[in-house]
Amino acid sequence: MSEEIAVVAGDGIGREVVPPAVDVLDALDRGFEFVEADAGDAVLEATGDPLPEETYDLVASADATLFGSVGESAADVILPLREAVDSFVNVRPAKAYPGVDALRPETDLVFLRENSEGVYKGIESKLTADVSTLTRVVTTSASERLAEYACDYAPEGFTVAHKANVMRETDGRFLDAVEGVADERGVETERALMDALAMHLCLRPEEYDVVVCPNLAGDVLSDLAAGLVGGLGLLPSANVGPERGVFEPVHGTAPDIAGEGVANPCAAILSAAMLLDFLGYGADADRVRDAVEAVLEDGPRTPDLGGDAGTDDVAAAVLDEL
Ligand code: ATP
Ligand code: MG
Repeated sequence: MSEEIAVVAGDGIGREVVPPAVDVLDALDRGFEFVEADAGDAVLEATGDPLPEETYDLVASADATLFGSVGESAADVILPLREAVDSFVNVRPAKAYPGVDALRPETDLVFLRENSEGVYKGIESKLTADVSTLTRVVTTSASERLAEYACDYAPEGFTVAHKANVMRETDGRFLDAVEGVADERGVETERALMDALAMHLCLRPEEYDVVVCPNLAGDVLSDLAAGLVGGLGLLPSANVGPERGVFEPVHGTAPDIAGEGVANPCAAILSAAMLLDFLGYGADADRVRDAVEAVLEDGPRTPDLGGDAGTDDVAAAVLDEL
């Protein structure tokens, strides 16, 4: 059976880093069928719609999607695509690699970020000239779904980020739901106040392995961790749903370097490795990660990592290692 993989490169360096990631998947010879589709600022300009219906439908029906990045229209593209696959968790590993300059070389952790609600529901209102409000949505069902995933992912235990001492109702519900599932499954958890956690992550990231977070906290804390490991060019992510997923580098369109052929393709290639894990090709995923690590250790490097190689040089080196 050959899986269908939607390929949505998007804008900016998305168009430069996604093709190498597709080449890597292709090189594994698993018979994947790649189907390309458009989204982002360029299609918006051409058609008036940043997310054409064909693209949405393709992502909603493909076995998995490899996504690049989109510019100004990001919220109008990636949020609906996360919904299209019913994504309830955003998996964000942050790992420092040997040979890459990192603020905290001992960092090796994974954030499991709630991906469907919280403050990102978009429920905002302007009440008066002086007052605006935001409604935060936390449900027991979404929190439990995240917790079930976390228990499968980290049976040895995980940290739960929260601020239930202030947001008693919403984070209180989140904490109760997550701890309830973990208790039932016999998985150990430790609580961490998200503000203190931000400091501890800076000082002693090696003390954390898996951190389960509400949506906004996960967004902020995972970017903080990106800073600890040496930059956006290395960080992959997975938007996981019950049956499908959208896999994308954490970085954006990088307009400052777009079109120059020097974007680091490693984050996109590592996102492809997460896609392989999701589809059940764990051994292939490990091979891809090993190849990337070998190149990071002593292969060509793009300028963000202090080298002078281009995207294509790094991509070719990864394929060689494979
Ligand atoms: P966007 O609004 O699309 O997120 P941005 O201006 O925030 O665009 P990012 O893509 O988030 O840009 O990147 C932030 C910085 O990190 C930029 O200076 C960019 O060049 C650099 N950067 C991001 N990704 C990469 C990459 N893959 N390779 C090299 N540098 C990168
Ligand atoms: Mg950005």
